[in-house]
Amino acid sequence: MKIHEYQGKEILRQFGVPVPRGIPAFTVQEAVEAAQKLGGPVWVVKAQIHAGGRGKGGGVKVAKTIEDVKRIAGEILGMQLKTHQTGPEGQKVRRLYIEDGADIQKEYYVSIVTDRASQKLAFIASSEGGMDIEEVAHSTPEKIITEFIDPLTGLGEAQAKKIADAIGMPAGSTAQAVDIFQKLYKCYMDTDASLVEINPLNRDSKGNVMALDAKFNFDPNALFRHPEIVAYRDLDEEDPAEVEASKFDLAYISLDGNIGCLVNGAGLAMATMDTIKLFGAEPANFSGRGRWCHPREGNRSLQDHAEKPQGQGHFGQHFRRHHEVRHHCHRRHHRVQSHQPECAAGCAHEGYQ
Ligand code: ADP
Ligand code: MG
Repeated sequence: MKIHEYQGKEILRQFGVPVPRGIPAFTVQEAVEAAQKLGGPVWVVKAQIHAGGRGKGGGVKVAKTIEDVKRIAGEILGMQLKTHQTGPEGQKVRRLYIEDGADIQKEYYVSIVTDRASQKLAFIASSEGGMDIEEVAHSTPEKIITEFIDPLTGLGEAQAKKIADAIGMPAGSTAQAVDIFQKLYKCYMDTDASLVEINPLNRDSKGNVMALDAKFNFDPNALFRHPEIVAYRDLDEEDPAEVEASKFDLAYISLDGNIGCLVNGAGLAMATMDTIKLFGAEPANFSGRGRWCHPREGNRSLQDHAEKPQGQGHFGQHFRRHHEVRHHCHRRHHRVQSHQPECAAGCAHEGYQ
């Protein structure tokens, strides 16, 4: 499950990771009031969507007057923001975050992900944080370092210092960076996150270190013990077909092919998709109802929808009209097809979730 940046920063604050002051806004008027409350002298108006790359897409802008805040908020709110993570159709901006403008001296990159291969946590960091991290991962991967953390011992001070040194954190800021890394690790573990990414982690001209962006993914299997995180869910940001399916307890992922799959059990669903691909075709979805389901109970959720007349319920439509390629599938398709990593630094994880 994903959340917005401003929600991620609320969590970071609770764990003692420094972030700029900021206030979310749902209207231009609220954006202006937020800016007045923060007091300036510089604000950053930030589009809140569940995708990165907002800066390059025109969704993050600096404002130097309240008038600027008003104008920029009006431009960004409601826009169809296209980034490399939204797919070609973009994502509509419904929320803004008005934040204190930070004094940026140097941008670093840090993230934590679960590394299944080593059964450890991968702490990924770089001296070259900021909006070009994908380019860094592509052309100078040696500038991105990975430190594996044993979950039994946690991230100790010595290992955190090793990371700070590896990304060239100056001596005067090392203690702050070490403290932030350890708090970030605790935050990752305590919230059952599957990804925490801070890009950029800023060092200002006084040497103070602060998170300017926050991206979280949470393990859906652990959400039952985090009602406070479930409360952050924003259904507007999720694939409508998947939201509808989740109401009926169906595992369902939209794909971009033209053969609908109605399958009982994830293993059989995967095998079915493989078979479809083997014969040169493309599945329209992954779906599974769990192998244990009673025919009467399991089929009810499907029938409820399949029997609805055309036009009612995305889920029913999806099965009936599976030959059509729906635009809302593109985003997920891109991710699943290319196994595009969740974090910008290029580590492979999350796989088929
Ligand atoms: P995204 O990763 O989606 O592009 P970010 O939150 O990382 O969005 O913002 C993009 C860039 O905007 C950052 O790399 C940073 O340079 C700048 N930025 C973001 N927040 C602030 C802030 N509060 N003050 C100053 N600059 C900021
Ligand atoms: Mg960022």
